[in-house]
Amino acid sequence: MSGKTIVKIRNKYRTDYKSGYPLITKEAILNVEVLKTEGEIIHIVDEQGQFLGKGYHGLQNKGYGWVLSFNKNEEIDQSFFEEKIAAAVSLRKQFYENTETTAFRVFNGEGDGIGGLTIDYFAGYYLVTWYSKGIYSFKDEVIHALEKAVSYKGIYEKKRFADTGQYVEDDDFVKGERGEFPMIVKENGVNFAIYLNDGAMTGVFLDQREVRKAIRDRYSDGKTVLNTFSYTGAFSVFAALGGAAKTTSVDLANRSKAKTIEQFSINDIDFEAQDIIVDDVFQYFKYAVRKQLAFDLVILDPPSFARSKKVTFSAAKDYKNLLKEAIAITENGGVIVASTNSNAFGMKKFKGFINSAFKESGTNYQILEEFSLPEDFRTSKDFKEGNYLKVVFIRKA
Ligand code: SAH
Repeated sequence: MSGKTIVKIRNKYRTDYKSGYPLITKEAILNVEVLKTEGEIIHIVDEQGQFLGKGYHGLQNKGYGWVLSFNKNEEIDQSFFEEKIAAAVSLRKQFYENTETTAFRVFNGEGDGIGGLTIDYFAGYYLVTWYSKGIYSFKDEVIHALEKAVSYKGIYEKKRFADTGQYVEDDDFVKGERGEFPMIVKENGVNFAIYLNDGAMTGVFLDQREVRKAIRDRYSDGKTVLNTFSYTGAFSVFAALGGAAKTTSVDLANRSKAKTIEQFSINDIDFEAQDIIVDDVFQYFKYAVRKQLAFDLVILDPPSFARSKKVTFSAAKDYKNLLKEAIAITENGGVIVASTNSNAFGMKKFKGFINSAFKESGTNYQILEEFSLPEDFRTSKDFKEGNYLKVVFIRKA
C-alpha cells in the first residue's frame, strides 16, 4: 500500500478525535471528495493540518472509516493487526478455558481497536465478519494475524457490506477444515445448533448469553413464558430448561419453526409440549387479548427495524407501544424482559419508553435488573454507541 489520503476534519469535531473517538463520520469530514477507494489508509488532520489520527476508509452505516491509531508513529501494517488480535485473544483466556461455554466473541470491532471487524469462536472454528469493503481489503493481514494468534479447525467469514450493509451471499468457508453443520456448541451447559455457512446469521446471538442465563436461573421455574421475535427460540430453550410450565415462541419467519424445534430437540426438550407459532407478533398480541391470555414472563427482543406486511416497526419510534401491548398480556406480578439492540438511543431513553408505557397503561412497575453487552463484547469508552445492547427486567406491579 503506497501513500495515504489526507482527510480534513472540521474544527467542530476536532476535540472528539483528540479524545479518542474512533468513527470517522461524514459530517466531520471537510474534503469528502478525496476519499476514492475503500481500504485506503487515511490520515485525519484538523483544519490547520495538525495530525489527529490514522485509519482506513470504509463505508459502514453512517461512517466513512475508522481511526486505528492516534499515534503518528504507529504503522498500519501486518504487525499492527497481529498485536490487536493477539491482545484480544489473550483477554478472552477465561472464555477459552470454560468448557461449559464454547461460543463467544474473540474480537469486537472498535472495542478491540479495529472498527468494522468482529471475530467469533464456535468450538474450534472462527467466524470473521467484515462490515465494509474497506476492512475486507485487509483480509490477508487479518487472517494471517488470526492464524498466528490461535490454532483452529476452520475459518468462516460473513461479508456484511452489500449496498445497505446487508450480507453478501457466498460460500463463507475461508480455510482449514470445513465444519459439519449444524455444529453443536455449548452455552452455560446448554446446546446450540450453529450454522456457519447458511446465510447471514448463525442461529444464536451471542451477546444475550447473560440474559439467557438469568432467564433460566431466576425467572422461569413454574412460569408461562411468551418469547416474541423468537428467531431460533434461544430464550425459550433456556426458559424450558429453567422449569417453565410452558413456552410460547412467536416469530414471523417460516424458518423459525424448524429452527426452534431443532434447538429444543438437541437439549432433550419435548417440543410438542411447547407452542411454536409462525405469526406477526402484533397479530399475535391481538389474538392473545381476544383470548384473554396472560403470561408470567414476556420476552421482547425485536429487531431495531422491521417491516412486515401489516406493520413497520422501528425500535426508536415504536418500542413504547410494543411494551404497552406486552403489559396488557402480562400477569400482575409477572415480568417483562425488554431488550433492544438499537444504537439509535441509550439506556436513559429506553427507560423513558418503559416509564411512559407503564404510565399510559395505568400500571405500576419495578425494575429488577439490567444488562448490557457481556465482557467478551468488549467496548470502547470513547465510543458509547458501540455498547448497543440494553436489556431491562421489569416486574408489573
Ligand atoms: N430474540 C431472538 C433474536 C430476534 S432476531 C434471539 O434471542 O435469538 C429478530 C427476529 O424478529 C427475526 O427472527 C425476525 O423474523 C423476527 N421478526 C421481525 N418482525 C417480526 C414481526 N412483526 N413479528 C414477528 N417476528 C418478527
